[in-house]
Amino acid sequence: MNRNMNTLLTRLGNHNPRSLSVPETIPLTLSSVFAFEDVDSLNQVYEGEAEGFIYSRMTNPVHEALKEVMRTIDGGEDALVFSSGMAAITSTLITHLEAGDHVLASHALYGETYEFLKYQLSKFHIDVTFVDFGDENIDRYFNPKTRLVYTETISNPLMNVNDLRKLAEAAHIHGAKMVVDNTFATPVVCQPLAHGADIVIYSATKYLCGHGDVTGGIVVSDQETIRAIDKVGTLYGGCMSPFDAWILIRSLKTLELRMKEHSRNALKLATFFNNHPKINKVFYPGLNSSPCYDRASSLFNNQLFGGMLTIDLKGAEDSYRTFIDHLVGIKFVPSLAGVKTSVCSPAITSHRNLNDQELEEAGIAKSFIRISTGLEHIDDLIAEFDSVLNLI
Ligand SMILES: *Cc1c(COP(=O)(O)O)cnc(C)c1O
Repeated sequence: MNRNMNTLLTRLGNHNPRSLSVPETIPLTLSSVFAFEDVDSLNQVYEGEAEGFIYSRMTNPVHEALKEVMRTIDGGEDALVFSSGMAAITSTLITHLEAGDHVLASHALYGETYEFLKYQLSKFHIDVTFVDFGDENIDRYFNPKTRLVYTETISNPLMNVNDLRKLAEAAHIHGAKMVVDNTFATPVVCQPLAHGADIVIYSATKYLCGHGDVTGGIVVSDQETIRAIDKVGTLYGGCMSPFDAWILIRSLKTLELRMKEHSRNALKLATFFNNHPKINKVFYPGLNSSPCYDRASSLFNNQLFGGMLTIDLKGAEDSYRTFIDHLVGIKFVPSLAGVKTSVCSPAITSHRNLNDQELEEAGIAKSFIRISTGLEHIDDLIAEFDSVLNLI
């Protein structure tokens, strides 16, 4: 064996144990590339005739394990993982669209999804119509070039629940696919594929991770669609780090427990706010009084409505400032879905780019506070919110 130091340093440390036992949890395979025994082995893996990996931008053992979890809990044939929710969204859109095509999208979408649809797709001469999917007659917005219908299960910040079955039916009649961003609901609360959606997308950064330490995206669909998105996604290069995939596999083990508790706490908070004299209105699909309650009950699993709610404060226009600035244990965070409860003001975070008129058209007031309900004891949450409400 060559004893030169550099040769030793570069070749050692790759011990792959052969033993009668296997690791009880998945090993973190950080390898960006894989070595082959011989030319035949490489040819077989490339042609899909033998199991094996090539290059981690394409896929990696940890990615495969995460895909298996996601396709199973979402009831899809296959899945893909990405470096962020936006990478999942943009790769899915670009795969399905070309110049001259048309997209029908909800008017109430995650800010950056809206920006991509409106300002990036137009560069490729792809036309997007933004529609209120609560509209009874959406058929009139389709045209022969409509390829995709794009929506979110629960909209932000009004927490409207879209009629996924009706939208999927309309999409299919017009030969389009329906894409649903299910980030707020997760497969625990809603499985859009079972209601007719063709493609489900997640920002794994939110509840799938749930602990605020991963940025990632996931797509679940049928095998043919996944193969097509995979080809394009590999070119655009938004691949998930194997470490993030590993953390997500670990986080997903508690997804159902977390979503049940997020939902239970959110319903209790919504009920508390609904009866509070300092609150104008509560937006939460799990409240009996919500206009979305019946639809949400029929689409959602086990009477769970998720952890996100929005409240409209009474009082002066800057009451949101007093509210946010006096919270102590509950943090002001421009994201969501962690184990700790957090609040944000949609007008100065997610919808900051809208002017006053656009905010009004979107039905968003400066007095709105969006709450991401965490896993604390409900009594502590109610006590802290009650104390700041008494200041406005
Ligand atoms: C956060 C979020 C995204 C974007 O995901 P990133 O992981 O931040 O890229 C997309 N859709 C929804 C509904 C989100 O909340």
